[in-house]
Amino acid sequence: MKRGHVPMRTCLGCYRRFPKSGLFRFTLGREGPVAGQGAGRGYYICRNDGCFEKALGRRSLSRLLRRAVGAEEVEGFRRALRETGGPGTGGERSWRERESTR
Ligand SMILES: [Zn+2]
Repeated sequence: MKRGHVPMRTCLGCYRRFPKSGLFRFTLGREGPVAGQGAGRGYYICRNDGCFEKALGRRSLSRLLRRAVGAEEVEGFRRALRETGGPGTGGERSWRERESTR
């Protein structure tokens, strides 16, 4: 195994860098945030429960989308995260498995 070359990504909540494989990925579509592997640029949130809320609270999503993100969109995103077992859902294993099968 080669060491020292793990792809790192920055968490939108805490702005710390983590190995890509340990982060939850989402993309921003025209309709708002999309959980999982989507086309386009990916953004990442770590598995720390607070980070998802922090990212929302800081309006990172609005900034990234360059427009206001409505509460409904946030709810939809939250739901999508839950379905894929994203951060704060306790189902991180399932999303990792799911990602690896795609
Ligand atoms: Zn984080």
